[in-house]
Amino acid sequence: MKWEGGEQSGNVEDRRGMPTRGLAVGGGAIGLIVVVVAAFLGIDPNKVNDVLNKGGGGPGPGGPAGEKRELSAEEKRQGKFSSTVLRYTEEVWEEQFRKAGKRYEAPKMVLFYDAVSTRCGDAPSAVGPFYCPADKTLYIDPTFFEELERKLGGSKAEFSQAYVIAHEVGHHVQHLLGYSDIVDSKRQKLPKAEFNQWSVRLELQADYLAGVWAHYGQRKFNFIEPGDIESALKSANAIGDDRLQKRSGSFVSPEKYTHGTSAQRVKWFRLGYETGDFSKLRQIFEMPYGDL
Ligand SMILES: [Zn+2]
Repeated sequence: MKWEGGEQSGNVEDRRGMPTRGLAVGGGAIGLIVVVVAAFLGIDPNKVNDVLNKGGGGPGPGGPAGEKRELSAEEKRQGKFSSTVLRYTEEVWEEQFRKAGKRYEAPKMVLFYDAVSTRCGDAPSAVGPFYCPADKTLYIDPTFFEELERKLGGSKAEFSQAYVIAHEVGHHVQHLLGYSDIVDSKRQKLPKAEFNQWSVRLELQADYLAGVWAHYGQRKFNFIEPGDIESALKSANAIGDDRLQKRSGSFVSPEKYTHGTSAQRVKWFRLGYETGDFSKLRQIFEMPYGDL
């Protein structure tokens, strides 16, 4: 992916290097969100529960409590990358919203290390990147990207990282357009297996939005290099629910899916990328579940 020298977003707050010791992690609603998000990222929910119960993971490479730490050159580069990708999403979504007669309110992005406080609660880094609708903010611990790279066999996977950011921005777009509310309103009313189908629709729609972003972003910025789409598809494929369940050794049970199978995630990202059709969003909510 070509991104160096690109404009950076003014909506990033870098909290890495800040001390996090003493952050209360765990409990209640955030615990639930954390486990749901963890499923997306291929993290064993039991591990997350462990983290939640123990509360945080010590001070890490941050300085002693109360002291700021200087970021490494690699961390600075990672920050610049995330900020540039966020700017690419702002430019694309501002334009698409304008075309649809709407105004795009850009999300904020917080980069953190170890653990973070949000209006959705406190979260340990083990949850991976997530979006908190209450403060319209993406929370990302960039060390997650190193983990993703390892998962993809050690290849330099910057566009896969951009896909993850674009997926989280997709959740923000869904929040602005009211899709998240539709799904939230079903949470209490439906049996769990049926509600999961709505959760899958929401996740596949976020993948579709990531694809639509890549479609227009490429036209505008020409940032995609040979192999990038394959690398993003590979990571979509690596984090589908069927893969996650297989890897964790359990029986693959479709009614437990909350993010869609690997094949579904690849399909919707690719469709968004190929068509750039913003108006198809509704279809993902209206088509029979079996056709997704
Ligand atoms: Zn998601």
